[in-house]
Amino acid sequence: MNWDNVRDETVGYLRDLICLNTVNPPGNEIIACQYLADVLARNGIESQILESAPTRGNLVARLYGDGRAAPLLLMVHLDVVPVERDRWAQDPFGGELKDGFIYGRGALDTKELAAMELAVLLWLKRNQVPLARDVIFMANADEEAGGHYGAKWMVEQHPDLIRAEYAINEGGGFGTTILGKRIYGIQTGEKGTARFTLRARGKPGHAAVPQSENAVLKLARGLDKLGGASFPMHVTQTVRRYTQGLGNAVGGSAGAALRGLVDNKNAARALEQLELDEGMRGRLYAMLHNTVTPTKLAAGSKINVIPSVAEAQVDARLVPGVTAESFLQELRTVLGSEYEIEFHKPTTVGIESDPQSPLYATMVRHLKLHDPEAFVLPDMIVGATDARHVTTLGTKVYGFCRRWCMNQKSDAQQSLGGGLAQATL
Ligand SMILES: [Zn+2]
Repeated sequence: MNWDNVRDETVGYLRDLICLNTVNPPGNEIIACQYLADVLARNGIESQILESAPTRGNLVARLYGDGRAAPLLLMVHLDVVPVERDRWAQDPFGGELKDGFIYGRGALDTKELAAMELAVLLWLKRNQVPLARDVIFMANADEEAGGHYGAKWMVEQHPDLIRAEYAINEGGGFGTTILGKRIYGIQTGEKGTARFTLRARGKPGHAAVPQSENAVLKLARGLDKLGGASFPMHVTQTVRRYTQGLGNAVGGSAGAALRGLVDNKNAARALEQLELDEGMRGRLYAMLHNTVTPTKLAAGSKINVIPSVAEAQVDARLVPGVTAESFLQELRTVLGSEYEIEFHKPTTVGIESDPQSPLYATMVRHLKLHDPEAFVLPDMIVGATDARHVTTLGTKVYGFCRRWCMNQKSDAQQSLGGGLAQATL
């Protein structure tokens, strides 16, 4: 295997995919599906394109194993978020390669993973790697807008095409340095969402006669309570292992504090005392707690009239294992009963995949082969991906896509290709 050729070929696929404009909306992912189908066909791999709506393409291809184990799904999304053209130095749809960097919308989310997963399929096929499991490739529409035309639709309409024991998805894989140690996360958890309207009702009247039953003031008091509240901690397996692993990696007193975090009754305060950058501190807090963030306000129609109702829209994220109902109790504990709380449908629950499974262990082993100094930890993102749709089929989904740079010693393609081939045996 000549890895330089593999790299160059994969880079070519990535650049081609970037040139196909799949900004969602409208998506138009069908053009990327057709591209992938052509490459697969040239390599003797059949694929199907399933349209959830005109131009909203989803592609599925499968390499067959001998059936000793259940399938492995390589999943990815083909749509990208919009661009502000005047903020780009390069053409966002040019796929330019310059000084070892590839420029374009989707280069990191997630056409790079599409190119890698495509390439893995091609190498498995060309090298006739004997497989115990089927390896399924699913490239979806619409992840950036909730997956309704993509992974969610595939799960609902074509579950038998994509049913698998394990899936590898976007999410983890960014190498980061935390307190001097190089850490890679394999994403095993994602938070859920429970957005809601917080509504205060009060006495209407003329603004010239102030009164404490003003709905605007009442809402402000409620928001202030939410902002200052200490919500209970929820410890998942992923975060227990993450904080313990991070603590072991870091060592010293900071390491001890991290290791003890999940058993600390006052974890929020312990976090404040740790020497972490603000982003990391906030992320660790969010991994351990349900969070509430008010983002929109509405009340009144005239400056001299006290309105009878005032509303805030609140974005809330739930730790896996917490339902909207149990979260409502937490909100009631903070707010009491005088506010209306109306959840926006649908709410979603967080998800967690076993951070001790054989596939997880294989991923760790291979990453350490290529970067022995690094620490590999299960990780939880505080947002969401298509994983939440696929896990409803019982699939354990792991987010991992190691990014690499061409002017560094690029061993990642070996890590990915070798890791996946091994994982399927
Ligand atoms: Zn993405």
